Amino acid sequence: MKFKFTDYHVHTAKWSADIDENGPNFEDYIKIAEINQINICFLEHYELYSIEKDKNNPFYNGNIDNYLEELDELKETYDFILCGLEVEYYKDREIELLEFMDDYEKELDFIGGTVHEWIAGYPVTTKEKLIKFLEKKKMKDIIDEYFETTKMMINSQIFRNICHIDTIFRYINENDIKPEDDCDISENRVLDLGRLCIKNKMHIEYNLSGNKFSIGRSFPSKKITSQLLKEGGKFFVGSDSHSLDYFENQIPNVKKAYIFINSI
Ligand SMILES: [Zn+2]
Ligand SMILES: [Zn+2]
Repeated sequence: MKFKFTDYHVHTAKWSADIDENGPNFEDYIKIAEINQINICFLEHYELYSIEKDKNNPFYNGNIDNYLEELDELKETYDFILCGLEVEYYKDREIELLEFMDDYEKELDFIGGTVHEWIAGYPVTTKEKLIKFLEKKKMKDIIDEYFETTKMMINSQIFRNICHIDTIFRYINENDIKPEDDCDISENRVLDLGRLCIKNKMHIEYNLSGNKFSIGRSFPSKKITSQLLKEGGKFFVGSDSHSLDYFENQIPNVKKAYIFINSI
């Protein structure tokens, strides 16, 4: 790659359904990345349930081939962009996910495994959906199920890279939806997930997006990341950008994050 550092987690309006249609696309990010001398990896959401059922999902009806084609063409001009996907893990879809990896792992530069939801339609990373989920299920159970599902994803060994391992705390934290007394929110749970990644030789994301939410810290925290690094953890850095302003502002932080990681 052309530059020293890479932001591995950037979403576009065309290919990620959680950005409105006026949001940034490939060329918008590329321009800013080039000026600021950073490589970028497009890591669009790839969610099997939504892709199968929702005609508005960008990857509906085999559109992944168009995604690959568009990026292949851009890669002929720009040598600092990578083609990736943030693939949602579902415990009841492991066979399809393995087949997907067989078919597409070689076509893509980078795939990150991720857990936002385990019951389709109730992502814990969207505040209004999380509030609806909390009407159906106890907070303690939601947190426990998040950790169990993430553990299953790691143990499945489907992915080599794991995104934001404690994103359950995006909204459930002391500054926002306060954890109830019976909830186990200890950082040891996050450490355990990180150690499982190390054991399985998976790379862990140092995801900077928590800084734009009430939690105000990375996923996982700097302290946990530092501990996991000392234990041999390998990290990649992602801004998790959904807008151009945010992306541009995060570039110095992405670079600093690599300097921090490399210092341990
Ligand atoms: Zn994510
Ligand atoms: Zn993302």
